[in-house]
Amino acid sequence: MMNALEPDWGEFLNQAIDLRYCNPLMAAEGEQAMRALWEAARETEGRYILVIEGAISTAADGLYTTIGEEGGRVWTALAALERLAPGARHIVAVGTCASFGGIAAATPNVAGNKGVGAVLRDRRVINASGCPPHPDWLMVTLAHLILYGRPEVDAYGRPTILYGRRIHDQCHLLSFYDSGIFAKYPGDFGCTYKIGCKGPITFADCPSREWNGRVSWCVEPNSICIGCTEPTFPDQTGPFFEQLGDQYVPGTTINADTLGLGIMAAAAGACAINLAGSWRSGRLARHMAGIPSEERLEDGTHDHDPPAHPHHGADED
Ligand code: SF4
Ligand code: SF4
Repeated sequence: MMNALEPDWGEFLNQAIDLRYCNPLMAAEGEQAMRALWEAARETEGRYILVIEGAISTAADGLYTTIGEEGGRVWTALAALERLAPGARHIVAVGTCASFGGIAAATPNVAGNKGVGAVLRDRRVINASGCPPHPDWLMVTLAHLILYGRPEVDAYGRPTILYGRRIHDQCHLLSFYDSGIFAKYPGDFGCTYKIGCKGPITFADCPSREWNGRVSWCVEPNSICIGCTEPTFPDQTGPFFEQLGDQYVPGTTINADTLGLGIMAAAAGACAINLAGSWRSGRLARHMAGIPSEERLEDGTHDHDPPAHPHHGADED
């Protein structure tokens, strides 16, 4: 998040959200920090967005991951999640570990690490996956929740405005793939499929969004996509520098439905554009001033209902 540029983290922090607990960023420590967490949950019960980074350890009563101590009690991530989830309006898992277990749940996973959705089976968790996740992926997800409510998600709970398209279909090297021109080593000329690119089974908008201030992305210097946004990462997307196995059949159209279950929608780019307009018009700040989200929905729906297409918000603007 601190690597975000448009808007930058400072602007987002000061104008869009009221960040009440984030242990790497807050000044408070120890019991003072824990008290801030419970106070925030109590004061904003039913309205707060719970954002979770990191997998949840479930073995040994969750003791492999602790977030703090209070009055002699050790708070595990598991216990904190179980206490905070009921009062949360929305739950967002940020990063592939929080979304699906990720590297923290890789074999042998002695800590029993799981993604948040696997722990909270009765809640719809929004997954902003990635290892690491692009700063925009969390920022856009939060902005969508603030402005429009719950975003449309794919089979794995990822917002389709960000994860709705396959890396391979957006890649600047697709014509090389189609022409059978393949790199033999990283940095070599041609598509990197044969040296292990997982772009054909990976969904995200890296080719158009790019990283580090839109400087580049994984495949641009002729290296590979390692599939970092996928539930199968890393156990099944590795070894990274080995060609994909049977799960990908060249010539077929693969989407999130055929790889898993659920709905796929093409709305890439809409949110970023809508957000820019809303930001300039001050709409986000007005919403953050405390107007309950139910009142924002003019058609009478609750934002826990399936959302309207993101374009609808832009039309209202
Ligand atoms: Fe691009 Fe990888 Fe697909 Fe080749 S296999 S076109 S490098 S995404
Ligand atoms: Fe992750 Fe692939 Fe995007 Fe790189 S290109 S950040 S490995 S999804």
